[in-house]
Amino acid sequence: MIKGSCCCGAVKFELTSAPSMMGTCHCSRCRKLGASTLVFADQKSFNLLQGQEFIQKYEPAPPFSYVRTFCKKCGTALGEIGSESESFPIPVNCLDDDPEIRNQFHVFVSSKPVWYEICDAAQQFQENPA
Ligand SMILES: [Zn+2]
Ligand SMILES: [Zn+2]
Repeated sequence: MIKGSCCCGAVKFELTSAPSMMGTCHCSRCRKLGASTLVFADQKSFNLLQGQEFIQKYEPAPPFSYVRTFCKKCGTALGEIGSESESFPIPVNCLDDDPEIRNQFHVFVSSKPVWYEICDAAQQFQENPA
């Protein structure tokens, strides 16, 4: 069981199995949200334990399409919690336990700020490989 929560503890969740992958996104959106390294959780493994009322959706203006959520009490980025996709991203920062996997790739490396140095050997993509 992998537990997760926001900074203030209002939102708590658990993953009943290890996430399928971990990747780091260097796009300006993820950077602003402070949520660059993400794990992809299987919908079936995700249980919200408390704090549904604190989960605020941020609907982006086009051309951006990904809905992001955050805790409206403390501002912690919660990725796409509440998504109906089979698998959805959660910032690894929210996890309280070891997700049992390590960073496997970097995407949008072309948007990476100069002050951020990639220090692992994970595969790099200039944009989104998908
Ligand atoms: Zn919070
Ligand atoms: Zn991104």
